Amino acid sequence: MALVVQKFGGTSVADPQKIKAAAQKAIARHVAGDRVVVVVSAMGHQTDHLVDLARAITDRPNAREMDMLLSTGEQVSVALFAMAVQAAGYEAVSLTGAQVGIRTDSTHTKARIQSISTDHVQKLLAGGAIVIAAGFQGIDQHGNITTLGRGGSDTTAVALAAVLGADRCEIYTDVDGVYTTDPRVLPAARRLSSIAYDEMLELASLGAGVMHSRSIEFAKKFGVPVLVRSSFRDVPGTMILPADRAKPRPASGVALAKDEARITLENVPDQPGSSHALFSELAASGIAVDMIVQNVGQGGRADISFTVPSDDLPAALERTRRVAAALGATGVSHDDEVAKVSAVGVGMAREEGVAGRMFRALADARINVRMITTSEIKISALVDRADGAAAVAAVHAAFALEQPTAGEVDEAVDGHGPRPSALEVVRRLEGMEDLAIEDCVLDSSQALLTLIDLPDTPGVAADVFAEVGRAGLFVDMIVQSHPREGRAEISFTVPSADAARAADVTRGIAASRGATMADVPNVAKLSITGVGIRSHAGVADRLFKPLADAGINIDLVSTSEVRLNVVVAAEHGERSLAVLRRAFGL
Ligand code: ASP
Ligand code: MG
Repeated sequence: MALVVQKFGGTSVADPQKIKAAAQKAIARHVAGDRVVVVVSAMGHQTDHLVDLARAITDRPNAREMDMLLSTGEQVSVALFAMAVQAAGYEAVSLTGAQVGIRTDSTHTKARIQSISTDHVQKLLAGGAIVIAAGFQGIDQHGNITTLGRGGSDTTAVALAAVLGADRCEIYTDVDGVYTTDPRVLPAARRLSSIAYDEMLELASLGAGVMHSRSIEFAKKFGVPVLVRSSFRDVPGTMILPADRAKPRPASGVALAKDEARITLENVPDQPGSSHALFSELAASGIAVDMIVQNVGQGGRADISFTVPSDDLPAALERTRRVAAALGATGVSHDDEVAKVSAVGVGMAREEGVAGRMFRALADARINVRMITTSEIKISALVDRADGAAAVAAVHAAFALEQPTAGEVDEAVDGHGPRPSALEVVRRLEGMEDLAIEDCVLDSSQALLTLIDLPDTPGVAADVFAEVGRAGLFVDMIVQSHPREGRAEISFTVPSADAARAADVTRGIAASRGATMADVPNVAKLSITGVGIRSHAGVADRLFKPLADAGINIDLVSTSEVRLNVVVAAEHGERSLAVLRRAFGL
């Protein structure tokens, strides 16, 4: 007898017929002998309508009242869902978030779950009922209704699956699984039979849009296998699993984040604490920074560029200007018309030339790359917003994502890997939605090469990495800073053993393009891995602060959803590791 959590999104319960059809899915499971917990979203676009209603009253609705209003959407759908089950002759009980026992903090409209009591739900299940729980909502310690942020029903479902020790969590939605990219952007997109949590995390908040990323954080943290499948079509769906159980590919998907804005702080004194000054200010305002690129800098000065959601641009600019003045930076520039294209794959670290392939594809499509950051499983390029869709198409084709990988079977893999014990789940629940930093490791085997004052012509990154690739150099981290006055800076790391050869190659590239180069045969790269790294506004700062306090200068940074990499001077490697491990409680 299995325990299954089934979640139905707004489109799956958009009208009474659809509610009845969804109820049949829950009933079928119940009849097969499983215990079933259903989590439901508000019907159709009900939440949007409620938001519009509030806006018709006031521009700035009170956040507590907003939650009171928005939570009604799910209260309607759970009641109707329970009635549908009962009308078909089975037992069902609907529960609000508060009745389930979902306790959250008091951050109205984006509350974080603090704990879930399972007693009530377990008792109802034991009594033979199908439990219908309202998604997206909880209650704070003062008894106020809270909501978890738009799309939060996924989080409710996975969190419930985790605490109940469910065998799996099925997300029923209007798409039939996770695609290699958004099919609305690119019709050639293909459904994946499986994907790793980390890949999904990188894709989810980058715009793949299938699931709320906090729900994947939960799933990963508690080892809950998640099956995303269609409410309307009987196709297998996509299983989201640990990396070692998903198919390894250089790229599994391509994501587009359309609404990014770029800010550059120019000529910041290149000394410990500059990044901290900037990112602590942004974190204090709750602004989640996405891409961060710091160039190697010259004459004791460096540029720091970063992206934020377009909506946060005015606030971020104001804060950045304030910090610029305090630090003695010479200026702040920004651009509101950019988009970020990312290729994601847990297999890319094991394969040579993956980045080169992506940049070549973009160059061939005549798309100018404005900024680059990479992590072990992701390569992101910032492009003009108008080029976004074309960039996705080019990268998707470059990795032949429209074709199934050899050996990939077109059916969802079932079963789950090692899971934390029930006791362990309860213990970890205390800080359930906290940022989970899993590890911090030091890699002292890298050399850093930098091309300085590189004319920023289209295709320059592709050409550089084609040459680097021809020389047989295995590139790890790549950072291209935002070009200034038509000149870009590209830094990359290779194994130290290849430092001399890499320096020759880089010198050649620089000479032929009127650029200069710098090489450091030994640097220390620190990688912090975990979940929630990007969605928690202050994470970057938790990295910068301890390093600043220890007087350690940061040479290069790159960020992603599940990873933060920094490069510091080799002699600071061990000390940085110690400082960071302490800062993150490892
Ligand atoms: N009804 C809420 C929303 O539309 C929560 C959800 O659908 O997951 O955002
Ligand atoms: Mg929804």
